[in-house]
Amino acid sequence: MNYREILTDIYETIKNEENKGQVTSFIPELSGVNPEHFGVFFKTVNNDEFGFGSFNDKFSIQSIAKVASLSLAYKILGKRMWKRIGVEPSGTAFNSLVQLEADKGIPRNPFINAGAIVVCDILISQLDNPQQDFLSFMRYISDNPSIKFSPKIAKSEKSTGFRNIALCNFIKSFGNIKNDSEEVLDFYFNLCSIEMSCREISNCFLFLANQGRKVSDNKQIINKSRTKRINAIMQTCGLYDESGEFTFKVGLPGKSGIGGGILAIHPNKHTIVVWSPKLNSKGNSYRGMKFLELFTTKTSSIF
Ligand code: GLN
Repeated sequence: MNYREILTDIYETIKNEENKGQVTSFIPELSGVNPEHFGVFFKTVNNDEFGFGSFNDKFSIQSIAKVASLSLAYKILGKRMWKRIGVEPSGTAFNSLVQLEADKGIPRNPFINAGAIVVCDILISQLDNPQQDFLSFMRYISDNPSIKFSPKIAKSEKSTGFRNIALCNFIKSFGNIKNDSEEVLDFYFNLCSIEMSCREISNCFLFLANQGRKVSDNKQIINKSRTKRINAIMQTCGLYDESGEFTFKVGLPGKSGIGGGILAIHPNKHTIVVWSPKLNSKGNSYRGMKFLELFTTKTSSIF
């Protein structure tokens, strides 16, 4: 399969089409991002790689970081995780509060904000220096010592993060947040604030396409069975209330962020990351969705 040709063709097609949607307005610091950025990076488990457009530019990865926090918490806690968080799609917006009352403070899955906030709480309980240890984990899995939080973006999100503050306190009222809410939220805002390029994200999560092993040195990061389950949760919950649509159109485990990035994993083959800041009404990148749909249709290698 000539991936370079297919990717070039799709990139040019989408670049010439109308770029619909809106850049996020949730986080003031992100609302000024140039909406015309468009980057793609593709990397196989055999180290073939191709990049297009703004693939080396860093952007705010937002919820894509939740794949790393889940991986680390799951690595440490194993199946005890699932006492605190479910594995069902929520069918509601990423920042929704509605199900938590009926579910008694157990978030539906680790990728909606409620679930990711509980994952931060777990990491705070388990790690000596939670934020630093989390960064070390991300740097290790990426072979990239430059990964860091963006205090500017984290502060900006905190200034308008009323829903996340409400979510955290609401969950705490059910006893499913064990640490101080402020500490949990600071960690959450920091992990969402990380800035990486399509290339860096693609490298970082390549272990999920490689049965849990880091491609550069073959070290096992997460065991095979847990890798399978992380991919399964990405498949069913990675794009919030558009997860069904994403599976219908794209068919791969994926994770989006309101910075406009989407990460997709093809187990045993490759990772592909698309970044375009304009979002559809569900908070997922408009061009990212389109690109990945065309990609799996043209390579017709999923189902
Ligand atoms: N930091 C964002 C929030 O909590 C992440 C949401 C997202 O990327 N979908 O609202």
